[in-house]
Amino acid sequence: MRRDGTDPNNVQMEDVLCDFCRRSWTEETPFIEGHHGSCVCGPCLTAAYRHVILGGADDRVPAYRCTMCLEEREDRCYRSPTHQEAFLCERCIKLASGALVRDKESGWSRPTA
Ligand SMILES: [Zn+2]
Ligand SMILES: [Zn+2]
Repeated sequence: MRRDGTDPNNVQMEDVLCDFCRRSWTEETPFIEGHHGSCVCGPCLTAAYRHVILGGADDRVPAYRCTMCLEEREDRCYRSPTHQEAFLCERCIKLASGALVRDKESGWSRPTA
């Protein structure tokens, strides 16, 4: 998401916020962009991966809409503990993880436990 008051013609890194924890994008923090400017940061993706893929957890509510792909999904999902309107579907967790792993500069790797 974008910080309130962001100039759409001059978006700075610090204007780009993770929808799941509201941290700003920095050189040190990998970010993945979804649809319509939604974003998830590396640390939140790690949490989601641990929770859903490794932990088998499921934060679904009926007819939830994934924050990243904006689709109404029926697969399992991660829900932000601090921003409860933010959901990340299992498909997007896998897609975003794959993208970050391929991006060597991200320094991100799939959690194993
Ligand atoms: Zn985050
Ligand atoms: Zn999704």
